[in-house]
Amino acid sequence: MIISIVTIFPEMVEVVKNYGVLSRAVKLGKIDIKIFNLRDFTSDKHKTVDDYPYGGGPGMVMKPEPFFKFFDFYKKNFGQPFVVLTSPQGKTLNNNLVKKLSQKENLVIICGRYEGIDERIMNFVNMEISIGDYVLTGGELPAMVIADAVSRFVPGVIEEKSVKNDSFNTGLLDFPHYTRPREINGFKVPEVLFSGNHNKVEIWRRKMALKKTMEKRPDLFLKKELDITDKKALLELFKELNKNA
Ligand code: SAM
Repeated sequence: MIISIVTIFPEMVEVVKNYGVLSRAVKLGKIDIKIFNLRDFTSDKHKTVDDYPYGGGPGMVMKPEPFFKFFDFYKKNFGQPFVVLTSPQGKTLNNNLVKKLSQKENLVIICGRYEGIDERIMNFVNMEISIGDYVLTGGELPAMVIADAVSRFVPGVIEEKSVKNDSFNTGLLDFPHYTRPREINGFKVPEVLFSGNHNKVEIWRRKMALKKTMEKRPDLFLKKELDITDKKALLELFKELNKNA
């Protein structure tokens, strides 16, 4: 999969592929993250990307020409992309949307700045995406959030098992994790994790995931379709509640 980010601040976005899991995935060729400087698609000597708004008012607007040039260049060199515009007016990003985007072969993410972009670039845009109901100074952070989250679903980037259990993926929040030492300042790791019984460990983890979800995100719990492991885990929770009553 290619994820391309178009920005006037390429250095800011570059870091998305320079650390941790994504840096490894890029090096191994599991994912290709390209960063484009919008100023490279300007034609004046000052590399101007903004202009005054028609109709007056505060702030500047991103000029359409560099985007038209960019898309012309991009299609010729990399084919037709699925284009996402970062925008507070877009669909709010969530796990389902991230998964859908990860199935695109060729994704372009546009970072806005100033008051926004000349509306005519909407002719290239397939979807506007927001990362929440607040306004940021630019689309770089949202683009990095989208690129990072989408990459995790690209086969080979992260171990499949690990993505499977992550929060939201099963409709639940993730279960609690522990590592060494077995005890710290009197705080112990739950005994079941040393039992060596995979079935027991799985039921315990599901029980904890269900409990966390009910406590922190009852909205998710209400939507969850329960499978047999969920039911067994809920029975255990119920027994524990009865014992403590
Ligand atoms: N005037 C615009 C409005 O109120 O809808 C806001 C422009 S904002 C200052 C500049 C750029 O930041 C936007 O074009 C967009 O690319 C990005 N941006 C700001 N908030 C965002 C959010 N919540 N989600 C995604 N992108 C955002």
